[in-house]
Amino acid sequence: MRLTGDFHTHTIYSHGKNTIEENVVSAMQKGLSSICITDHGGGHLFYGVKEKELRKMRDEINLLREKYKDINIYFGIEANIISVDGTIDADKWLNMFDYLLVGMHYLIRFDKFMYYYFMNFFARYMGLFKNYCRKRNTEIFIRCINKYDNIFAFTHPGERFFVDIDKLSKACAKKNIALEINNRHGYMTAQDAKIAVNNGAKILVSSDAHKSSEVGNIEKCLNILKDADIKTFQIINIEED
Ligand SMILES: [Zn+2]
Ligand SMILES: [Zn+2]
Repeated sequence: MRLTGDFHTHTIYSHGKNTIEENVVSAMQKGLSSICITDHGGGHLFYGVKEKELRKMRDEINLLREKYKDINIYFGIEANIISVDGTIDADKWLNMFDYLLVGMHYLIRFDKFMYYYFMNFFARYMGLFKNYCRKRNTEIFIRCINKYDNIFAFTHPGERFFVDIDKLSKACAKKNIALEINNRHGYMTAQDAKIAVNNGAKILVSSDAHKSSEVGNIEKCLNILKDADIKTFQIINIEED
């Protein structure tokens, strides 16, 4: 199995350690044909990228495209869901991105604070409100799916926030949204990934690199793919050797 593109990488614009160019060079050295830069949406309290910086990133990527012709360089974002109605924190700039990735994260401004942080925390770490949170988080994802037409993938589903992967993956399959197996977090789990592909959803594997040296690293993902017995055709960014 060969990774063709890494569509989830961070840079110094959020909490990555390296520049966009360093991520690009690393991707080329690892033989990837595509790389996408996806820093965090503006709703993230510490790492969110503001409009001015987004414009700078877009310009920088356009220049790098001229400089490095052997690789496809894309500008994306890892947007955060910030409301129970499924709204994300990149609404105003959607036409600036080549790829829209969406996830649920801590440290963001969410409109239902108690639910988002306390109940989900209790659910994850103490087993309280687990079924309630799973149902409600899934509804939030589905509203997000219905609200936007250009979501490329959901990042690390099931990490920290429980989801009903059966329901979510069916909705994703209908709108051609991929579900990520994330090398950094180890989510989706093999169990969830198997349910997702059985429902016809596609898988995206990503490094979620926070250093340029991590771009293209997918060892953990490969183990999950193997455990879930997922075939190459079910993954959008892997091809046979
Ligand atoms: Zn993330
Ligand atoms: Zn990330």
